[in-house]
Amino acid sequence: MTISRREFVCTAAGLATVGLGGGATSLGQVTREKQTDKHGSGGPIIISSGNGEPACNQAFEMLKKGIDPLDAVVAGINLVENDPEDHSVGYGGLPNEDGVVELDSCVMHGPAHKAGAVAALRNISNPSSVAKLVMRRTDHVLLVGEGALRFAKTHGFKEQEMLTDEARRYWLEWKESRSDIDDWLQAKADFHAARGKMEGLEFTYGTITCMALTKTSDLAGCTSTSGLSYKIPGRVGDSPIIGAGLYVDNDIGACGSTGRGEANLQNCSCFMIVEFMRGGMTPEQACLALLKRVADKTEPRLRDENGKPNYGLMFYAVRKDGLFGGASMWGPGKMTVHDGQTCRKIELPSLCGVRPKVVG
Ligand code: ASP
Repeated sequence: MTISRREFVCTAAGLATVGLGGGATSLGQVTREKQTDKHGSGGPIIISSGNGEPACNQAFEMLKKGIDPLDAVVAGINLVENDPEDHSVGYGGLPNEDGVVELDSCVMHGPAHKAGAVAALRNISNPSSVAKLVMRRTDHVLLVGEGALRFAKTHGFKEQEMLTDEARRYWLEWKESRSDIDDWLQAKADFHAARGKMEGLEFTYGTITCMALTKTSDLAGCTSTSGLSYKIPGRVGDSPIIGAGLYVDNDIGACGSTGRGEANLQNCSCFMIVEFMRGGMTPEQACLALLKRVADKTEPRLRDENGKPNYGLMFYAVRKDGLFGGASMWGPGKMTVHDGQTCRKIELPSLCGVRPKVVG
């Protein structure tokens, strides 16, 4: 089935009027009920993905003490990378198809307009810290694979097994359930136990992104992930790619993303969202406009029976004046925010409505 761009309109009619060239849009009409754009009175503010509560709390405490915003967000993200219960990031992340955990991360520092990143990094639990060192201690932006590991070890990072027993069981269950014509047989009891927890393929994608705005309006951000679960070894998603899974412009704002990385790689998503904000859109309008662009350009293979993207994608953005907001391809989606009062979760507006069983 081929669907033309004209026919493909995800939600309310108002979305069809989203312009892509910046400036005001009529998105406010569509999202009035769930407007996430808030605040607007400057920093300090930390925003993060739905799994970012520990990161937000940690980073906010550090910002209050005047610590550099990049050090603050990386310290926050380290907590989630070290959590074996979060299977989308760092230690305990789900592995590639060979059962090996490969991590991606990038950082960007607004005042310096510098970035650092690592991709397909094995055996190191804090790729975000290594990415920060790439930024600060090399003239490069991105190190990958073996080179990234050697660089991390040079700086004293210790190698460790990243595959937890739980993650290994999920991987094994995935491997055993791939085909009826190979030699891998499912252990039925384990299969059902694991299935219960994996209902809806909730672990297929997953990531943490976190951004800080200081009291003096400086910005920094970090994204970290174990990426697409059971990926082809060597696959790199959007999370370590500046402009795709994270972008910071100290004059305008910052944006981070979680969800299907290939969509962000094909659309330079976070860079474009910051550019949309430069053109006058609020963070929420910019995130929705980019989702609309991604949806319009989605290939038929990746559309559901109604022509909508069959994957999840979320954006989280903060503007230099402290206005923050986000949007999700499918609901329910949440972002975490710490703006000095409390650390709380905010429901994101979705482009395509609520779809509980979505990949991503
Ligand atoms: N964006 C990540 C990737 O594609 C995964 C995710 O955020 O769910 O590697």
